[in-house]
Amino acid sequence: MELYNSLIKDTQALFEGASAKTWEPSGREAWKDLGASELVLQKDAAYELGAQGKGSANYVLFTSNPELVSKDQVLLYGPDLGQIRGEVDFARIVLLRVGVLDEDDEVVYRTLKDIEFAKYHVYPEGYMVRMSPESYREQVRVSKAAVKKGISFKAVGANYIEEYKKNPNVLNAVVIFATLPGLDYRKMQELAKKANAVTGTLTHILEGLPTDCSVCALKDVCDEVEGMKELHFGVGDKGQKH
Ligand code: SF4
Repeated sequence: MELYNSLIKDTQALFEGASAKTWEPSGREAWKDLGASELVLQKDAAYELGAQGKGSANYVLFTSNPELVSKDQVLLYGPDLGQIRGEVDFARIVLLRVGVLDEDDEVVYRTLKDIEFAKYHVYPEGYMVRMSPESYREQVRVSKAAVKKGISFKAVGANYIEEYKKNPNVLNAVVIFATLPGLDYRKMQELAKKANAVTGTLTHILEGLPTDCSVCALKDVCDEVEGMKELHFGVGDKGQKH
């Protein structure tokens, strides 16, 4: 699964020169998970991350390359949840090292979607997430009570890692949080859009779209993403045999 590698490198380039706090959760740090979504009312909120008018981005990228993702890790660029005093920019980017996904293409796609879906199963107490898949934004309302109890990105990152790793195809997960002003959140949204285009193209390929690049609406994606055409022609051959 190397289709997203260039997007991982572009993402890493966005943080070059910025210093990060890093943690390697061992499994005990996770924040209490409520198992269902919680409503944090505005009057109970300490602040919002990535609110309208602020930078915001959210996406997941996959790889099989251990040089790109080699361990479970939480990275934080910017102030932590206990230090934030008002609305701030916010990004949550997840890099996942996956295994065994080069075997059966349909399984690959379904597995990627299942893995992506994991983000809807994380409910840290006092941390209400609202996602906007069309605009690749993620907004979080954090409760005053959670801040008082010491909620941190290390703990919330551990919740995400735990959830992603429930899928046996996920070998390692890196969760990057950003709250630093001045990062290129717009570019992050562009990368999120590209990641979505890669996953979307993968679906079309696996649905058996004809292999004629000259008339294909997805040509822009395939011209840019290394390995996409090879994947389609491989799948096309298989289709013809059936
Ligand atoms: S490989 Fe060619 S035909 Fe297949 S999706 Fe990409 S552009 Fe379209």
